[in-house]
Amino acid sequence: MFDLIIKNALMVDGTGSSPINKDIGISKDKISSIGNLSNAESKKIIDAKGQIVSPGFIDTHSHADFEILRNPQHEYGISQGVTTEIMSPDGIGLVPLSKSKSKDYMDYLSGILGYPTDDFDGTTFETAKVSYDKKCKINVAMFAGHGPLRLDICGMEDIPLRGDLLTQAKYNLELALEQGASGLATGLDYYPQSFSDTDELIELCKVVAKKNSIYSVHLRSHEKDRAFANGGILEAIEISRKSGVSLHVEHYRTAEETAGEIDKILEPIDKAKNEGLNITMETYSYPVGCTVPIIFFPGSFHIGGTKKIISNLSNQQTRDFWEKELLEDPQRAGIEEIMWTSIGLKEWKDYVGLTVKDAAKKDGLSPIQHILDMMYRTNLNCGFRGVPPSSVSIWRQVEEDIIELMKRPDYMVGSDAVPTGQMIHPRSYGCFTRFLGRLRRRFNVPIELMINRMTKLPAETFGLKNRGILKEGYFADLVIFDPNIVNDLATFEDPEILSVGISQVLVNGKISFESGKDNLELNGRFV
Ligand SMILES: [Zn+2]
Repeated sequence: MFDLIIKNALMVDGTGSSPINKDIGISKDKISSIGNLSNAESKKIIDAKGQIVSPGFIDTHSHADFEILRNPQHEYGISQGVTTEIMSPDGIGLVPLSKSKSKDYMDYLSGILGYPTDDFDGTTFETAKVSYDKKCKINVAMFAGHGPLRLDICGMEDIPLRGDLLTQAKYNLELALEQGASGLATGLDYYPQSFSDTDELIELCKVVAKKNSIYSVHLRSHEKDRAFANGGILEAIEISRKSGVSLHVEHYRTAEETAGEIDKILEPIDKAKNEGLNITMETYSYPVGCTVPIIFFPGSFHIGGTKKIISNLSNQQTRDFWEKELLEDPQRAGIEEIMWTSIGLKEWKDYVGLTVKDAAKKDGLSPIQHILDMMYRTNLNCGFRGVPPSSVSIWRQVEEDIIELMKRPDYMVGSDAVPTGQMIHPRSYGCFTRFLGRLRRRFNVPIELMINRMTKLPAETFGLKNRGILKEGYFADLVIFDPNIVNDLATFEDPEILSVGISQVLVNGKISFESGKDNLELNGRFV
């Protein structure tokens, strides 16, 4: 007697094999039988005729760390078929970090992560796990964040880790990996991560390699002078080469300025792979991203953390100084085109949806003075997104590039969901269904290929055991959907619209999402 049988579906098992008609029997939290189960008995039967059943999707890049604690039903994720998310990418997170040291950093990250619930304790992976396990709709995995690791040891200070500090960081990292961290993640555009140099990262990655885990990186464009080959992909490859670590490159794709140049961005990676290095990549399905304005500023801006930054910004002279610095920084060209998506201050919410250029005009300030003022008034609790290319053909070219990348067997989907704010980037609600729906159909991508990139590949890459394929004995994380209807509906103008075409989603054997039903049981695990 099964607990549940899914009948008459076309099974796409995650391995990349072609769809095949099979019934799936589920007992407790596992897939217990795959085959012809027409005569088998079951407490419940789902007739999925005309639909596809596949493994649940795995998101390799999610900033829902705290949002999911506040809204454990996690509708925007599970309604896309996502059953596992890996949190704390970019090294942005609160684990492992002593509770006493986390308050200032919470403010610092609030424009991306919002705030956790009061009981959250990120001191170790053991203490953090408790907040997620069986308390969220989906499975949660988490990287050890390079940010919290460094803060715990030396605060928001410009010191590359050496000697005792490095020894302590390596010890804490090893403990995190033993307690279930999915790897080490860093974001070398964010602080304190960018205060590191290449040698520090090589040393940390030796620990990761020893534990057979993975180094996930948002490539460096800050503090380039302390990096091998000025940062970027070459630094990441050197770290992998010297430490022996498996490398995962976060959100690696072309953009408006590089549309059509995938060969160029892939060249160093393919060269390194030919050398024998283990490298994977991810992307989301949109041409622009979103983040927080602190990303524009170099190291000296960040020293001392939030309190110090805010105190500095209370001074007009400091603001003038930073305006001058940013105006002289060629990387900041076009900064006035960004659009406010998240403002943690009621009185200022009218600015949400305005570009900095327009908002600054309203204030009678220059664009950079307006950004500095916004950061000051909101205590850094503000975020923005890029504006998509005005040229349809460039937007289409970037989409074509993204699909070409996805055809490679080393590419997966990382939504980079930032679910905090009032007019969030649509990737939170639509990243997976955009790939699975409109982009797959437009570019005629075989469904088994697209599903492999969302299931087996990330499960294997990040060591998510017994997940990612439909196989007897594996966890019953499953999605049932109509391949002709499935689609994203969230747009840049209206980003909080749920996707269509996903009928049911199972997490650890329980129906956790069913189109039209609310508040189903929370059955996700910390994995
Ligand atoms: Zn990110």
